[in-house]
Amino acid sequence: MHNPSDKQLQQIIPSEVCFSCDVCCRFLEVDSPLAPIFTEVEKARVVAAGADPELFRPQVDGKSAQIQLKPHDDFYICPFFEPEMNRCTIYPIRPLDCQLYPFAIMFSEDGNEVVLGVDTLCPFGEEHLETEVFQQHLREVIDYVESETVTEQIAANWSLIGDYQDTVIIVHTLAQLRNATSTPHA
Ligand code: SF4
Repeated sequence: MHNPSDKQLQQIIPSEVCFSCDVCCRFLEVDSPLAPIFTEVEKARVVAAGADPELFRPQVDGKSAQIQLKPHDDFYICPFFEPEMNRCTIYPIRPLDCQLYPFAIMFSEDGNEVVLGVDTLCPFGEEHLETEVFQQHLREVIDYVESETVTEQIAANWSLIGDYQDTVIIVHTLAQLRNATSTPHA
């Protein structure tokens, strides 16, 4: 099982592009809010594969957990990231949060909606956003996130819904997730 719907979400970015980039999996602060969130099921799967349970910080939804970053050079990295090889050591079982990137699920600026956006910090995402191939992929991502199983998992693990970021271009409103949490996010 790879994600909440048992279906692997396809990555549109060619792996050689990712291998030559230094954005993903690295963070400026040790407690970065952008560190990946694992749903309860995803955490259990990674722990069963040998990860230290102490690496996961419980979130306010009572189910999901955020990974504890570790120092590396002048920044911080996900403990599952291997910087020498520029690769994720848990790639086949990485969480939905990571599978989605450069797409991000977050609250709208006023906190009233849950939206899907494209992070412009990803050079590929920003450059290809308007292409037909990317737009087709976007429709597939929307269908996937709006499938009943995935929506239910996100609603149950709602700390996965990030705060609004102005580097993310909003491309879709996820109406079914509007009431996922009563916590104000404006
Ligand atoms: S789980 Fe893998 S893809 Fe996600 S941040 Fe960590 S190293 Fe990167």
